[in-house]
Amino acid sequence: MTKKQLNLYAELLVKIGVNLQKGEMLVISAPISAVDLVKATVKCAYKHGAENVNVLWNDDEISKLGYKYRSKKSLAEVPDWIVEQREYFIDKKIVYLGISSNDPEALKGINPEKLAISRRASGKALKKFHDYTSSNKIRWALGAYPNKAWAKKMFPNLSPKQAMDKLWEYIMKSVRLDTENPVLEWEKHQERILNRCKILNDAKIDSFTYKNSLGTELTVGMPKGYIFCGGAENGALDGIAFTANLPTEEVFSCPDRNRVNGKVYSSMPLCVNSAIVNDFGFEFKDGRIVDFWAKEGYENLKNIVETDDGSHYLGEIALVGYNSPIRNLNTLFYKTLFDENASCHFAIGACYPTCVEGGGDMSTEELLQKGLNDSLEHVDFMIGTADLTITAKTVDGNELKVFENGDWVF
Ligand code: ZN
Ligand code: ZN
Repeated sequence: MTKKQLNLYAELLVKIGVNLQKGEMLVISAPISAVDLVKATVKCAYKHGAENVNVLWNDDEISKLGYKYRSKKSLAEVPDWIVEQREYFIDKKIVYLGISSNDPEALKGINPEKLAISRRASGKALKKFHDYTSSNKIRWALGAYPNKAWAKKMFPNLSPKQAMDKLWEYIMKSVRLDTENPVLEWEKHQERILNRCKILNDAKIDSFTYKNSLGTELTVGMPKGYIFCGGAENGALDGIAFTANLPTEEVFSCPDRNRVNGKVYSSMPLCVNSAIVNDFGFEFKDGRIVDFWAKEGYENLKNIVETDDGSHYLGEIALVGYNSPIRNLNTLFYKTLFDENASCHFAIGACYPTCVEGGGDMSTEELLQKGLNDSLEHVDFMIGTADLTITAKTVDGNELKVFENGDWVF
């Protein structure tokens, strides 16, 4: 990777991603392996007028040691200072950038129960901060950076250097950094996404029906006042546009948690907590998962589903065309940030409250009443195939074809 590419990516994260404004405080969370990108981003942020940039470092090996040696009791406790730090971020109206560069297998061999305890504890303790980001009260973005272990996992037959170069090439392609003018390409891409959102929002859809040859036959009801979002979103408190995920291809909303019926089959493996869940599926009745199966990684899937009551329901419906640049790379990234943009997906667990009119200001109870799900989990799983059809039924009883042969009709 060249210095120029690194600087272009940093610029994309700062301008298109969090869309940093003069005088703002930027917090970057990143693994130490991403130090080159972090340095380029910090520099770019100051050049764009950041008042202060703070970096929260993490490291796979150090995390693993914690999971290995700490007791379950210790993992169930989140220190006050971490909770207070997030409160401080909220008070300071920070913008938040996460850089993902972790080894997808970093936590392999760790007792899944310990992981689940720690996930639940931090989910609970940091819920307020999480709610702030997921309802766009904090502008936030996620980017990625190659890491040796991640590159080896994706390209096991290449030399370490070749694998790193290839992964960087793939990341650049997926965030359109291989084009002449990436910022302009992003603006065009976001316009396309916005147009699809508008069609779906104007159509007043009551439900979607999914069908494919894997056996998926699922009806997903939509809540009244749903909003399909995608591409750039607006900060809930300041109205300033930002792009939460780089890359992003999806058009997404939240389903009515109580009106999902039928069976859905996965089309890509799910990588969660360093474990692979493969060939799996769910059966829903009145929104609730009543059965689930997996040829590989069943215990891990079970841990996700059984986190809390809300993890038995869907919180996200996302549409991605089969011909997305990421799917066309024809590889699994072992990271949701990329893999979710290769395929139509759903998420088990929490909704994004801004996907319903007025949702950003509603309490969890009010959201639940609207049919919007709440949970400590939010796990995307991919279900799109080359033969997927999605047909919408509108509130007026009309039919609208949305997907044919795995891809957008409009
Ligand atoms: Zn998604
Ligand atoms: Zn999601």
